[in-house]
Amino acid sequence: MAVWNPWRGCHRYSEGCKYCYIHKGDAKRGVDTNQIVRAENFDAPIQKKKNGEYKMKSGQLVFLCFTSDFLVEEADEWRKECFAIMKERSDLHFLFLTKRIERFEACMPDDWGDGYDNVTVSCTIENQERADFRLPIFSKLPIKHKNIVCQPMLERINIEQYLDDVECVVVGGESDRNARVLDYDWVLDIREQCKRKQTHFDFRQCGTHFRKDGTEYTIATRYLCSQARKAEINF
Ligand code: SF4
Repeated sequence: MAVWNPWRGCHRYSEGCKYCYIHKGDAKRGVDTNQIVRAENFDAPIQKKKNGEYKMKSGQLVFLCFTSDFLVEEADEWRKECFAIMKERSDLHFLFLTKRIERFEACMPDDWGDGYDNVTVSCTIENQERADFRLPIFSKLPIKHKNIVCQPMLERINIEQYLDDVECVVVGGESDRNARVLDYDWVLDIREQCKRKQTHFDFRQCGTHFRKDGTEYTIATRYLCSQARKAEINF
């Protein structure tokens, strides 16, 4: 597994951005997240060692743009270079998330065709309104590998009608002292939708404020993922 962050910075875009970890981390370091800055390591996947081999080892999953949204507006002039890099490194598999899926079509490279084999696009949703806006767009896009990320999940969401060509649905709560509550019933409900459509399901993290059987719990950040794993409901 590798990480490739060709730029950093993002603007809040929808309800799910309220406690964005990038904004929180930058605020602690006095960095203005709203400034979108190209990284020195922009071309990390094609950097080579003295012996001519790529520094980034072949066969890995590469998490792309985890310090921004890959489709953020200010990066339009840089993104085509990134697609060219992904094409050159067809021996790696790239995965990025976006809350701006409606921008995808205008951002696609000319040779995208029906999608690159080595790219997974994850469309992020947080509530029913965003699901009903983003997922019909997502389902029509030519993308070979599609995931839906429902994190932070802010309410019960029905996405069953949009699951036909989706490989995996990731669900998680919000992490923050003031986080909005995650109800375990909503998690189980979306899991049932995935089961019916035979779509992989991954309960990635609990919420700081987590409700189960009507009782609300507060969970420390370091246990959010391990507590979700303990539920053993992934498939
Ligand atoms: S779109 Fe993503 S990266 Fe940008 S502010 Fe929202 S949560 Fe953060």
